[in-house]
Amino acid sequence: MYKTASTGVQAERLWSRHVQMSQFGRICDGGVNRQALTREEVDARGQLLGWARERGFRVAVDAIGNLFITRAGREPNLSSIMTGSHLDTQPAAGNFDGAYGVLAGFEVLEALSDLGITTRRSVQTTVWTNEEGVRFAPGLMGSGVFTGSLALTQMLQSRAPDGVSVAEALTGLERILRPGDERLQHVPAPHTYIEAHIEQGPVLEERGVAVGVVTGIQGIRLYEVEVTGEEGHAGTVPVGARKDALRAAVRLSNSLYAEFADPGEETRFTIGRFTVAPGGRSTIPGRVEFSIDLRHPELSVLEIAERKTIDTIDECNGRPCAASVTRVLARKPTYFAPHVIELISAESRRLELPHLHLPSGAGHDAMMLSDACPTGMIFVPCKEGISHSVRESARKEDLAAGARVLANVLQKLAMQ
Ligand SMILES: [Zn+2]
Repeated sequence: MYKTASTGVQAERLWSRHVQMSQFGRICDGGVNRQALTREEVDARGQLLGWARERGFRVAVDAIGNLFITRAGREPNLSSIMTGSHLDTQPAAGNFDGAYGVLAGFEVLEALSDLGITTRRSVQTTVWTNEEGVRFAPGLMGSGVFTGSLALTQMLQSRAPDGVSVAEALTGLERILRPGDERLQHVPAPHTYIEAHIEQGPVLEERGVAVGVVTGIQGIRLYEVEVTGEEGHAGTVPVGARKDALRAAVRLSNSLYAEFADPGEETRFTIGRFTVAPGGRSTIPGRVEFSIDLRHPELSVLEIAERKTIDTIDECNGRPCAASVTRVLARKPTYFAPHVIELISAESRRLELPHLHLPSGAGHDAMMLSDACPTGMIFVPCKEGISHSVRESARKEDLAAGARVLANVLQKLAMQ
């Protein structure tokens, strides 16, 4: 008889694993601060590995510290079916961003074991290193190295503000590894990757829908703008003779805000950092630097938005301050594999769970994995769409529903 993996998912067990994980890096109000490769994050990984060893799952680690927990299939030489996410967090975060994807994946491995299901392909749950990019830059580091879009040697040299390098911080993993664990330079790409995650937006909760079938991740472009004027005495230089960089930068940023006032709210335009130099109370600002974060699900719209940004900055240049812009990151929109989207929809339907298709506003490890193999994501609702906050919250039954869909999707793929 065909056993369905979702019947082995236990809502209580999945919830209690979240509660146990939330003890690592605990801060006020039930939140966590568990930045990549700190003692707290390494301990959280150690807890997970402890559970994995009790179950007899195989443990492997690669050169950037990604952990792979494997439940072997009947044909171990075939490429595996992979799920996972991250255990690192922002400095004042909740218990679900990242942790949910790891623990839902682990729940599926346990469900398969409890039901005695033998899959054709192996099923793996992965903990990606440094997704958040708080302590070490850039984020999505582990998944980026895994898929080859970030260079290992360069990433190992990335340093935290306190001077510790990724290479040095990785030695902390020795504490939680055992002699039987595999240490691999590189782990082969999976057959398919599916990541479960809280939505981090309000759509599912507002519509009372249990499952988000993620269609892709919007593209992102980051820029640095520099406006250069002339420093001078606040009391003596006549207004007409000034080259006030702040005044020019404020006018420029207002033009940009007006340009991107999008009634459909599809284009996300953010100025997140604004620095004024030299910063003396009685000195006319000589230089302003600010950042622009531009996001949209369509590449063509992003390109038009970039053109508008550059044109607006060019128009401001020399009137009277110099203004220039540098693009520091361009990540094209991610479109998840249509057959994976269809499989997640079909399994949600079979479980009679209300579901809808939606794009992801935030970046995820799945974005990197989509370079390497067919990829998809399952979203579950979170309270008021809040994340990256100690107020982040999700409901036990929603987490379990997402894990049931994940279980059946992974099972189907692992039988192929
Ligand atoms: Zn996340």
